[in-house]
Amino acid sequence: MHLKSLTVKGFKSFASATTLRLEPGITCVVGPNGSGKSNVVDAIAWVLGEQGAKALRGGKMEDVIFAGTAGRAPLGRAEVTLTIDNGDGALPIDYTEVSITRRMFRSGESEYEINGSQCRLLDIQELLSDSGIGREMHIIVGQGRLDAMLHAKPEDRRAFIEEAAGVLKHRKRKEKALRK
Ligand code: ATP
Ligand code: MG
Repeated sequence: MHLKSLTVKGFKSFASATTLRLEPGITCVVGPNGSGKSNVVDAIAWVLGEQGAKALRGGKMEDVIFAGTAGRAPLGRAEVTLTIDNGDGALPIDYTEVSITRRMFRSGESEYEINGSQCRLLDIQELLSDSGIGREMHIIVGQGRLDAMLHAKPEDRRAFIEEAAGVLKHRKRKEKALRK
């Protein structure tokens, strides 16, 4: 499984539809300060279901919609599509390529799609839950996060490692079972 492409339209600084093609292996995005590199990462977090405006470096969720510039009027909606290569079947769905779309309007209304069919956020979360990507997973290491990890208390650092290793959910299940 690898990320194949990302299309952003009306998302943060990307007013016009822009597609980034991603190959297996490492992709580097370079550019001057303020050119939108972190916005690319925010787009990935957003389409995977991020619900916190702060995690997307904004004050409110509407801040992800292109707010306009001196020469260009604001837009009414943001849309991001992430296409994942599922050739190895890591996602439990019968497609070798899976596209996830999230769209948001200024009214606050949101839409989600899997391969062009409208779905709920929950469907996307369930699709991704055992794949190693998705919300709550430490797949995005933001500026300052490495410091936080190095300075964390041993118990908290252990939680990071357990989550990365995929044992955290089993521990949570065990704790829940013991409480019963
Ligand atoms: P650095 O190298 O400093 O980390 P960067 O390439 O990561 O920079 P970003 O933080 O991705 O830059 O982009 C910041 C730019 O995105 C700013 O110019 C900001 O005005 C613009 N921006 C953010 N949200 C919106 C929005 N809703 N509408 C229009 N532009 C936006
Ligand atoms: Mg940045």
